[in-house]
Amino acid sequence: MKMVFATGNSGKLREASEILGGGFELVTPAQMGIHEEIPETGTTLRANSQQKADYIWEHCHTDCFADDTGLEVDSLGGAPGVHTARYAGEEKSFDKNMDKLLDELSRKEMEASMMKSMGIAPKKNLRKARFKSVVTLIIDGQRHFFNGILEGSIARTKSGKGGFGYDPVFIADDYPAVTLAEITEEQKNSISHRGKALRAMAEFLKGVSAPVKA
Ligand code: IMP
Repeated sequence: MKMVFATGNSGKLREASEILGGGFELVTPAQMGIHEEIPETGTTLRANSQQKADYIWEHCHTDCFADDTGLEVDSLGGAPGVHTARYAGEEKSFDKNMDKLLDELSRKEMEASMMKSMGIAPKKNLRKARFKSVVTLIIDGQRHFFNGILEGSIARTKSGKGGFGYDPVFIADDYPAVTLAEITEEQKNSISHRGKALRAMAEFLKGVSAPVKA
């Protein structure tokens, strides 16, 4: 099954190819002649995911899907959330985004320890976090949505060389001793937000009898 995956992120593309397996041939926007950055101006993950898939459909009229992912940290009121990619600025630097997150959480912990010294009980586990992915599939012009969540927490320092994005600072509940950047890609895909959403999409597609155009 040939489909356009609306991403310019090589990490996402590699993971999606692994997760979906040999039955899918993933085509990039660049391979379809789309070289500009696809706009993401929505205020929710779902809106951004839909916007990216719609962009491909409107330009290519080809079956396609898009993934929008956000990292939510409870003690930061759900930030960075929809701003995950640009948390430290338009540059979208993975390193700067992680540095900002680690700084924000250190500040929160300092505030909490001051509150504790004043006898005010601070919130528990200031590092609790989750990744959320929303996948929009457009097939024969119809949209379908799939969700995936990975629960975990934010580490104190970056660790590991694998994966991409915030992986060196995210500790999944399923692998509590290491970051996502320290487990294998296969292990990450088996538990990840993207893995869950894309496997749900693949299950859905198994039940679709109409031929898929490419
Ligand atoms: P977007 O979905 O392309 O807008 O990505 C949002 C941000 O989340 C980017 O900074 C990505 O690098 C980051 N991100 C998305 N998926 C993952 C993941 O699986 N691990 C770590 N960071 C991720």
